[in-house]
Amino acid sequence: MTQKTLQNCGKCGLCLNVCPVYKLLKEEQASPRAKLQLIKSYDNDTLASSPLLKEIISKCLMCGSCAAICPSGIDHYSKFMEMRQKMARSQGDTPAIKSLIYLLARDYRLNFGSKLARTGQKFLPESFARNYKLGNIPLKNFPKLNRVPFRTANETVILPDKAPVGTVVYFTGCATNYLYDDTGSAAIGILKHMGYCIIIPKDQTCCSIPLLFHGAQDKAFKNILTNIKVLKDLDADAILVDCSTCGEALKNEYPRIIESRGQNDSDAKKIAAKVIDVLTFIDQQFDRLEFDSSATKKISVTYHAPCHSKNTFQSHINAENLLKKLPNVNYKPAPDMDECCGGGGTFFYEYPKIAKKMVDKKIKAAKDLQVTHWLTDCPVCRLNLAGNLTINDRMQVLHPVTLIYSALKSI
Ligand code: SF4
Ligand code: SF4
Repeated sequence: MTQKTLQNCGKCGLCLNVCPVYKLLKEEQASPRAKLQLIKSYDNDTLASSPLLKEIISKCLMCGSCAAICPSGIDHYSKFMEMRQKMARSQGDTPAIKSLIYLLARDYRLNFGSKLARTGQKFLPESFARNYKLGNIPLKNFPKLNRVPFRTANETVILPDKAPVGTVVYFTGCATNYLYDDTGSAAIGILKHMGYCIIIPKDQTCCSIPLLFHGAQDKAFKNILTNIKVLKDLDADAILVDCSTCGEALKNEYPRIIESRGQNDSDAKKIAAKVIDVLTFIDQQFDRLEFDSSATKKISVTYHAPCHSKNTFQSHINAENLLKKLPNVNYKPAPDMDECCGGGGTFFYEYPKIAKKMVDKKIKAAKDLQVTHWLTDCPVCRLNLAGNLTINDRMQVLHPVTLIYSALKSI
């Protein structure tokens, strides 16, 4: 983005109406508009780096809602990422964020880190898990990490039980690989049922969005090149993501970043053209699904639209479509369905009080609907929503694919 683009901000204030942080804090310095002005001043050398400046820039969910509404077409997203890099370089990061960056930069480290964390979960004293929180989430509410990483537990090529109707690549992301393998198993089950041959490349790695958000651009770039190398020559109809943030990376950020580094972006663009979120893919081919007609019990569900599903893919519309069409599902739309939950990558950890207020508001609205299932297609939203429920709330938070898969007829 050029300086001229930043100057294009007409200060109309439309971005304030959609910014979850501004809407909660009602402070101009928390607004996207103010962040842009500060970035402009910093770039013009009229504002020095400081802990306060870093704090203001970081107090953002990177949800993309400001960019989606801006009439001047300002790409807040990339401008914020550039500024986060400058702030990380000049102000440094906390040990926790440094550790996260270290882990995400190499898949073998994540693999090792997840094994260690799983062992830690086994031996964590109950009283400690009850009393301590990671950000706004009590440790006792953290899901158990996958016993075996999803990609290790599954074959690289999975064939359907009938003649294939096509081939898809499944980009699993870190969350499905290490934390929520139920999402991955359900996605595979549905795709097989539809008749697809599924390729799950073993060497894929973190999509890089968390690294980009924390200003680790060089480490992110290495992962981006790895993923492009892994994905570029696979002969498939589509590259599916179950997390819209991974999708945002593959679809928009990879081509932009490759181009910004003066490299040939044709492979990144080829990949981007094939990226689609798994819910949209399923909705587009709904006729391929056969449901178990013997199931009689109807369940009541609602849906939380992750910011990137809404702002990158508009897939929240398809997710709702799907839920409305599912037999045995009574879909109850939440009035605040597309309001941010406050998860925002590591936002729930860095700004637990703000995140808690956001998620509690959502929980109240979902409880009013009296549903048993709360569905969302972002692993961090799932973590944040489920992690802040209590046992008395009697709601289960799942990825929509889990529900779809459980309703299918065995074939
Ligand atoms: S919506 Fe765009 S033009 Fe309007 S204040 Fe926000 S950044 Fe500026
Ligand atoms: S990305 Fe989201 S949280 Fe950040 S400034 Fe824009 S609207 Fe606000």
